[in-house]
Amino acid sequence: MNDAVFSYSTTVLVLGAGPAGMAAAVAAAGLASSVILVDENCYPGGQIWRGGTKRWHDERLHALWKRLSACKNVRIIQSARVIAAPDKQTLLLETSAGAQLVHWEKLILCSGARELLLPFPGWTLPGVTGAGGLQAMIKGGMDVRGKRVVVAGTGPLLLAVAESVLNAGGNVIGILEHRGTRQLAGFSWQLLNKFKAKWRQSLQLLWALKSVRYRHNATVLAADGEDRLRSVSIRHAGHQLNLKCDLLACAYGLIPNLELASLLGCKTSDGRVIVDARQATSRPKVWAAGEATGIGGVDKALAEGRIAGLAAVGAAPSHSEFAARSEALQFADLLARYFAPASALRAVCTPDTLVCRCEDVYARQLSEFKDWRTAKLMTRAGMGACQGRICGAACQFLYDWQAPELRQPVFPATTSTLAALSAACKKDEKE
Ligand SMILES: Cc1cc2nc3c(=O)[nH]c(=O)nc-3n(C[C@H](O)[C@H](O)[C@H](O)COP(=O)(O)OP(=O)(O)OC[C@H]3O[C@@H](n4cnc5c(N)ncnc54)[C@H](O)[C@@H]3O)c2cc1C
Repeated sequence: MNDAVFSYSTTVLVLGAGPAGMAAAVAAAGLASSVILVDENCYPGGQIWRGGTKRWHDERLHALWKRLSACKNVRIIQSARVIAAPDKQTLLLETSAGAQLVHWEKLILCSGARELLLPFPGWTLPGVTGAGGLQAMIKGGMDVRGKRVVVAGTGPLLLAVAESVLNAGGNVIGILEHRGTRQLAGFSWQLLNKFKAKWRQSLQLLWALKSVRYRHNATVLAADGEDRLRSVSIRHAGHQLNLKCDLLACAYGLIPNLELASLLGCKTSDGRVIVDARQATSRPKVWAAGEATGIGGVDKALAEGRIAGLAAVGAAPSHSEFAARSEALQFADLLARYFAPASALRAVCTPDTLVCRCEDVYARQLSEFKDWRTAKLMTRAGMGACQGRICGAACQFLYDWQAPELRQPVFPATTSTLAALSAACKKDEKE
């Protein structure tokens, strides 16, 4: 094996330093002799608190960070991406300092979610991003002052994204929600009855966005422009319109990141990791929490993270922890019921729409195949830099194909990391 590869050993390894991972690490630190928390971002906080404590004033983040920093047995490894599992209890990280190995006794997967991007004509033009993608860039310092922005897709995240654009000095010229008015009214009614705090939050958001036109039953048909985005063609309440804009932020909700759970052999179903009442996965000594087990937002992530952290070190979660999770799961069910992408969106992907942007594969080339594997072999779809992370999910929605099979490394890696992986795998075979 390559002696240059740095390696750690830990009792508990937590993958992902979003709300779920931070909560899990704090909970596990009480009883574990050592905890390692790994994340590919430069700061802990995940998607919602991207940029960390210097950027966000949320008390929940600061409380978690204070407790984490006070734990002498917790090591945080930032800017490190987990790309492979060379053996049953080791993960391989790619860092700027080279490959590193972490040997663990217990593992908690808190890998979060990404956006579901559905292809439409022009979606690859410069100026078009995911909704949360634009928000992430703004959180990272992107200047949107004076830019005309259309926020589109479905779900409550659209409102949060529009608010971020406004706060950053952008000009939101419209929010386009694919779901109809009746559907949204039903969602608000459920919020009012069952989730008062979230209902108040949504009213505050709508008040902050009072100057912005919020269209229901609106769908992006195409992004227009030669070299970059100039306007968006939409259908709204049966009419076709064209909105001039500089940026289009469009996504149809979130999907769990399952690559590492699948690689480790954890059972998944309906696009999420299956866990029991204590967040244990089907694989012994592996727990999962947060968006990876189903989309539900920050409250679900925090509650599940705490339970997973305690369960991993053999402690019993309290009644209030289970109650918090139960409420968060009800909210997750509500989101799934009201904002799952509607099958009518399939029609927006015309035969001439690019589906795999890495390998330049169009919808007309894919529609003749019966499954992902054949399409991949015949067209190279999903074989580019994103390894099917974007087009795989899109094809699942468009053609009902099963997710692409995974092989490690699950993310593109440097040759030196690949060499470290190969050496680590050979060592495992010998043992
Ligand atoms: C783009 C985007 C923007 C969002 N914005 C908001 C918002 O403004 N408000 C809101 O309420 N909710 C937002 N959400 C929803 C958000 O997912 C939840 O609210 C909450 O952050 C979920 O916490 P989590 O810990 O489960 O996942 P996340 O916060 O997603 O944390 C997962 C962490 O795992 C890390 N990770 C994943 N894979 C690897 C790997 N292989 N190696 C190393 N690290 C890895 C990621 O870097 C990330 O930090 C957003 C989601 C997305 C995808």
